[in-house]
Amino acid sequence: TQSCLTEIENARFLNAFVHNTPEIALDQANTADTRIAEGDAPDMCGIPLGIKDLFCTKGVPSQAASAILNGFKPEYESTITSQLWTAGAVMLGKLNMDEFAMGSSNETSTYGDVVNPWRRDGSNTQLTPGGSSGGSASAVAADLCLGATGTDTGGSIRQPAAFVGITGMKPTYGRCSRWGIVAFASSLDQAGPMTKSVRDAAILLGAMAGHDPKDSTSAELAVPDFEAALTGDIKGKKIGLPKEYRMDGMPGEIEKLWADGAEMMRDAGAELVDISLPHTKYALPAYYVVAPAEASSNLARYDGVRFGHRAALSQGDGITEMYEKTRAEGFGDEVKRRVMIGTYVLSAGFYDAYYNRARKVRTLIKKDFEDVFAQGIDAILTPATPSAAFGLGEMTDADPVQMYLNDVFTVTVNLAGLPGIAVPAGVDNQGLPLALQLIGRPWEEADLLNHAYALE
Ligand code: GLN
Repeated sequence: TQSCLTEIENARFLNAFVHNTPEIALDQANTADTRIAEGDAPDMCGIPLGIKDLFCTKGVPSQAASAILNGFKPEYESTITSQLWTAGAVMLGKLNMDEFAMGSSNETSTYGDVVNPWRRDGSNTQLTPGGSSGGSASAVAADLCLGATGTDTGGSIRQPAAFVGITGMKPTYGRCSRWGIVAFASSLDQAGPMTKSVRDAAILLGAMAGHDPKDSTSAELAVPDFEAALTGDIKGKKIGLPKEYRMDGMPGEIEKLWADGAEMMRDAGAELVDISLPHTKYALPAYYVVAPAEASSNLARYDGVRFGHRAALSQGDGITEMYEKTRAEGFGDEVKRRVMIGTYVLSAGFYDAYYNRARKVRTLIKKDFEDVFAQGIDAILTPATPSAAFGLGEMTDADPVQMYLNDVFTVTVNLAGLPGIAVPAGVDNQGLPLALQLIGRPWEEADLLNHAYALE
């Protein structure tokens, strides 16, 4: 814990931690020492973690990297973080992210950009760690903590993990409680571990997972011993390679990474099977209707009354002006864009044309996966991202759709509620990390982790 706290100070330029909690950390670390001395050490005892700012932590600023939550200190602790502290983990502080988890580059944060610890060979250009869990990714990759929590609505754990060369897993929807995590798109949001290895991901997921009566969508299922499942034996397993992920214009190095990964799994005794997920091409448009729709509803609660920021008012301003000014000042551009899209697709005249259609597409995407799993496929192997990390500022001037394209390989997993994991798998021709994604059957995270372990 002490050495992590020192590294966090040394690495301020990464802007990964936005709020440090050294007193809490040292107190928890001392307790962990005592428990270890007494021979009562649970799984996470003394393990220093960073917590994404989307998680509410009691008495500690929790702002979802938004100015509208300025000064907000929750009176409550999220279920996941309270489970972590019960399991003996140590909280180093809160981690930077895209505002309300909307983004793929950590450039929409009120705290400013996060820097990726990696550089292209021979270049000093600062790169994005991806997003929205960019602070978590950067902090784990730079050894500022031993693991971090992330959340993934459309790829926000897997894409940043890929950009910094760490492991990131989105569990099955309902495996972890969403209670006390600031909501973005409630039917897609799921928290998960970001760690240096698959084994660490298995251990951290074990502490985060579990049924929670306070989240009606959390599943009443026992949490298996994920670590015990890591045998590395995937003999006879069927690995699906979906042809729809072979996108036009895919860089040669991504294609090679994918082929090499498949080869490695074949060498380990798995059988490679060409599969089809025919509705893949509709996933991104469906996601960017469903996610903003849910976001516009979830973000209605930031009204200047209940949480955080309230705008200064002028003589004669009524409650409407108070809402308008507070929301105009408090939300950033990307969040406003999502609220506007969401409000539009949910409005009476357009609901059927957009929102209902997107929901139907979502059902078809889910069915695509059900069909291939029914054919006996154990896991699906795809690239995690269409490119390596890009430069800070490189995408922000472009059309926002360019930024949304980063999510093409990850959003299907959220729409279908499945578990997915990004595993480091090589480097591009400029020395930057690249990752592969494995997608598993619902509730079979243990088996999915074992496939990732074989690929690691
Ligand atoms: N990049 C996607 C978005 O902006 C996904 C974000 C996420 O998973 N939280 O919506």
